[in-house]
Amino acid sequence: MAKYIMALDQGTTSSRCILFDHNAQMVSVAQKEYRQIFPQPGYVEHDPNDIWASQLSVAMEAMAQAGIRVNEIAAIGITNQRETTIVWEKATGKPVYNAIVWQCRRTADRVGRIYEDGFDKTLTEKTGLIPDPYFSATKLEWILDHVPGSRERAERGELLFGTVDTWLLWNLTGGSVFATDVTNASRTMLYNIHTLEWDKEILNYFRIPRQMLPEVKDSSCIFGHTSEKVLGGEVPIGSLVGDQQGSLFGQCCFTPGSVKNTYGTGCFLLMNTGSNCVASKNRLLTTIAVGENGKVQYALEGSVFVGGAVIQWLRDEMRLFPHASDSERYARAVPDTAGVYLVPAFTGLAAPFWDPYARGTVVGLTRGCTKDHFIRAALESIAYQSYDVFDAMQKDTGMQIRNLKVDGGASANEFLMQFQADLIQGSVARCAINETTALGAAYLAGLACGFWKDKEELTLLTQSGKTYVSGMDRSEQEQKLRGWHKAVARSLQWAKEDMDE
Ligand code: ADP
Repeated sequence: MAKYIMALDQGTTSSRCILFDHNAQMVSVAQKEYRQIFPQPGYVEHDPNDIWASQLSVAMEAMAQAGIRVNEIAAIGITNQRETTIVWEKATGKPVYNAIVWQCRRTADRVGRIYEDGFDKTLTEKTGLIPDPYFSATKLEWILDHVPGSRERAERGELLFGTVDTWLLWNLTGGSVFATDVTNASRTMLYNIHTLEWDKEILNYFRIPRQMLPEVKDSSCIFGHTSEKVLGGEVPIGSLVGDQQGSLFGQCCFTPGSVKNTYGTGCFLLMNTGSNCVASKNRLLTTIAVGENGKVQYALEGSVFVGGAVIQWLRDEMRLFPHASDSERYARAVPDTAGVYLVPAFTGLAAPFWDPYARGTVVGLTRGCTKDHFIRAALESIAYQSYDVFDAMQKDTGMQIRNLKVDGGASANEFLMQFQADLIQGSVARCAINETTALGAAYLAGLACGFWKDKEELTLLTQSGKTYVSGMDRSEQEQKLRGWHKAVARSLQWAKEDMDE
């Protein structure tokens, strides 16, 4: 009797494997970092063989650690860095180019031409995305334009394209299954999220041969089985899901109006909007939350560029403390920021402002401002920026949301979580297991093979950690937000003239 679900969590800097038991408890974790390749400024690549080798080795390690044999694994779930683009030879499995990573900006000029061509509106309508080098489409086009002969070979059916989920699935099954899921497809900017198919008009625009694209399936279904040669047994692969959607599912955000925020280097907020595909008026992305039983649920997504990274900056550049967790002690040493606001717009501002020219700003300084106030203002800025995305979600859906589920490294900061609850005038709940991304992939795989029965069972299994409830008057919240938005206004367009000169 199989007793475990294996989650493969293929991230941007490391590959991880976590084994979960029937109570959704982690029984072993293995992790391996792999090589980041920076061929020139703004370019980011991975070697697809490093991705695969590191993922396979942690899978073996996690089983060995717990003394678990392959026939004790009921199913495998895969969650992955999204948008990263790989093209390989169907006959040999050899990549024709390195993986072009989501962070890579090499196609910035090309994206400029999408706007000049007036094709941006069509793309947004059909894919729910705002054209940006971030998404797979222009990365794939770049490979076809730059690897000699590749477009012709792709037309002849000799080359395959996949995001990282597809690449891992293809390798795990010994090259026999070529598929992706709706959540990963929805990040390529080639997939029509309304009709649920690769979009002909978009493929024509980017000159991408249809035959190189994988079949798109539900996030939770049996995609195939691992090849005996690869894992030493035939284990069903029961889910593929993009990392942010994995964490949304792992947080049990199953119903419309449920929202999660992951506080990492940046922050990622996703709101489940159910069967309602909401077109944002506040420049959030519309994307697919999950596909199950032939149906999809949609999500609104917004991110904050500098989240936990502002604390890293205080630690490493300002050298204000040795450990990120020290920030909490300083923030608590004062009752407020004494009117100081820090806007960490180091690389511009994302949703809902979308200003690439915004730059970091500190306002409201007086002679009495101390290190404590400054650090407190930095922590508060993470919550303010998250609030702005959260509020845009409320405006786009007309729903009043009072709960936020949280995870990620900086969600360990209790001061930050309390302040976040104060700002949303509701409650913030942290999951007991911080590995919600892997948990989501495990849940989806477990549902696909009957290891778990239904979502009610999952909701009961998912232990909540601590909950923080707002203790702030609305008038105080409003006054603080007014100050914050005044500060944001001072940061907007700051670098514009310099960059135009
Ligand atoms: P990522 O997955 O993006 O690498 P993590 O989820 O590991 O990020 O979170 C790390 C980030 O969280 C870092 O930017 C770090 O500065 C911040 N961080 C970690 N612990 C704390 C803490 N106790 N208080 C505030 N920020 C923290």
